[in-house]
Amino acid sequence: MHYSGSVYRPPSEAHSLIIQVTVGCSHNKCAFCNMYKDKKFSITPMEQVRDDLRWAREQYSRVERFFLADGDALILPTAQLLEILGDIRSLFPECSRVSTYASPKSILGKTPEDLSALHAAGLDFAYLGLETGNDPLLKKINKGVTVAQQIEAGQKLKAAGLTLSVTAINGLAGSNGDWQAHAVDTAAALNAMHPDFIALLTLRVYTGTPMAEWIASGELVQPTPMELIRETKLFLEHIDCPGAVFRSNHASNYLVLAGTLNQDRERLLHECDEALRGDAPLRRFVELGR
Ligand code: SF4
Repeated sequence: MHYSGSVYRPPSEAHSLIIQVTVGCSHNKCAFCNMYKDKKFSITPMEQVRDDLRWAREQYSRVERFFLADGDALILPTAQLLEILGDIRSLFPECSRVSTYASPKSILGKTPEDLSALHAAGLDFAYLGLETGNDPLLKKINKGVTVAQQIEAGQKLKAAGLTLSVTAINGLAGSNGDWQAHAVDTAAALNAMHPDFIALLTLRVYTGTPMAEWIASGELVQPTPMELIRETKLFLEHIDCPGAVFRSNHASNYLVLAGTLNQDRERLLHECDEALRGDAPLRRFVELGR
């Protein structure tokens, strides 16, 4: 199997076989992210992808899940993605799910017909990084799209039949920024996208990123655990996504929260209140290894 540099996948893809159909991220400019800084973006040649799939078939008797890496497989031409999905389907008839990260720009570059064809060919699940629903903050972190474009991208994936998982970042505005607008606007954007899964991560600061420079200079003050929980509570007060699975249980989160919206929202708010009173255990800092 060919892997180039560090390979990332969402925690829920722990049991998926990772196929690196691109190397790096086509955007690679978000101020908080260092995942693919060591890589120059490229599309993996089709022959190499085929080699990897054939090799995997020889090694593994059963592969039920695939994850198409790196940061943005949807940047591939639709015809090439359809070919890869066709190969997965013919070589691994037991496969029940193919997932990928999806950047908003790449999603918007596909027509609804492209996305429906990809879904029909077996692409089931996409992870989209909203980060924030607040336009000034989205611009500051250099996501490269507007909130309206993020919402449109999420809605396009859903309309094509894909299961959509969206991440946002608690603490992204800093405690000295407009964290209230970040919380309220992020909830509003998610309400408009109505993803199947919502993951609220916590801001982590990685060496060499613009975010690390902002923290070092005091331009952005990293929130304390209690400030993060206060922001989470405000977010939850404004979220309205019936049926969406909500998780704030990533290694970066101090307070572990999990439930189904909207039915569990009152319990989640109660758990935030308990933590804010000091009546709930907080997780210690967990090093993420990058
Ligand atoms: S689009 Fe995703 S992978 Fe690429 S730089 Fe931004 S956060 Fe990192």
